[in-house]
Amino acid sequence: MEDFKNYSKDLKEILDYIPDGNPVISVYLRVDNSKILRQDYITSLNSMITEAKSNIEGNANIDKVQRRNLSDLLEKIKRYINDVFRPESAKTVIIYADRLGLWKVIRLSLNLKSKIIIDPKPHTQNLRTLLKNYKVYGVLLLDKEKAQIYSLYMGEVNEYLAALISEVPPKVNYRSQLAYKEKNLLSRIEEKLHQFFKIINERTFELFKDRRFDSLILAGRKEIIPQFENYLHSYLQQIHIGNIYAEPDSPLGDIKEKANKVIVQHETALKNAIIDKLINEYFPGGMGVLGIKATINALNLEQAKTIIYDINFKHDGYVCNSCTYLTVEQEETCPYCDSKLTYYSDIVDEIIEDALKQGCEVVDVENNERLIKAGSIGAVLRYKF
Ligand SMILES: [Zn+2]
Repeated sequence: MEDFKNYSKDLKEILDYIPDGNPVISVYLRVDNSKILRQDYITSLNSMITEAKSNIEGNANIDKVQRRNLSDLLEKIKRYINDVFRPESAKTVIIYADRLGLWKVIRLSLNLKSKIIIDPKPHTQNLRTLLKNYKVYGVLLLDKEKAQIYSLYMGEVNEYLAALISEVPPKVNYRSQLAYKEKNLLSRIEEKLHQFFKIINERTFELFKDRRFDSLILAGRKEIIPQFENYLHSYLQQIHIGNIYAEPDSPLGDIKEKANKVIVQHETALKNAIIDKLINEYFPGGMGVLGIKATINALNLEQAKTIIYDINFKHDGYVCNSCTYLTVEQEETCPYCDSKLTYYSDIVDEIIEDALKQGCEVVDVENNERLIKAGSIGAVLRYKF
């Protein structure tokens, strides 16, 4: 999806930021609570802040007043992470701050490398690419009398898209009143429901045509959803990924939680399908590579279209200090620019960063046995060798 209208307001502000001459602090902090202890990410933040402060001191482009402001802001970020922030489902938190009051906290459900960058504008190069990978899910919560549609983006409720209430049938004229008398109460209720479901379907379809969501989840009572499914436009049927059972007045948090389970299932199935295609089709046909060496090679040649990796995969290697050259072999100097290579105990982060910089799609998976056996990482290529 090319347009930015589905991004949350905060993200849009960051992506549209116009530099005003003031340095902006961008903090990326990995906080995945399934892997990292709170104490560890706080320690990691503290050491990054110490390093950032010493870089600021040595930077001739930053004046004395700016220096003090940046230092105060870094302390504010430290206090925020210590006293206020809780990771919950976030894997990476990004904080943008500047002297003129810019303060944005963005939670991502993807692991990114921790870093602090101080630049004239927010550091978003990778974010833009990353966000394109995320789908927007429409959730339609329906009942016999009312319906609500909202969108979920990156696991969070993004916005209400519509609320619909079944209208009382218009005043009938004499002749149709007679006709009504012929019908029993039940069929009148059915007629009303029929009209209402048609309206819900039309409104939902309009939102889809307006590209307000990519996939649809239906939510409601067990007996209502199958009835409504008959009304779904054929295009909506194609993007309908699952149902959740809920009461019309269920708290939004419950709906979100259940919807996220459906989304994880759906996305896992898609990811597994990509892996199967890479191993069964792209790799044998020369349009795919498997294993860290071949994947790095594809990246060094800017040949990769999609990178697929297991989030628990680690591998040591070397990174060039000046260009983005990566290697798992110990080499004297970078073959591209002759600079010194630095040893990393884990270069998977560097591989992902490089892939995002190149505009690759990045697919992170966990515990897919076929991928692990094939080397835990691979790439779909843009073209054959
Ligand atoms: Zn180099």
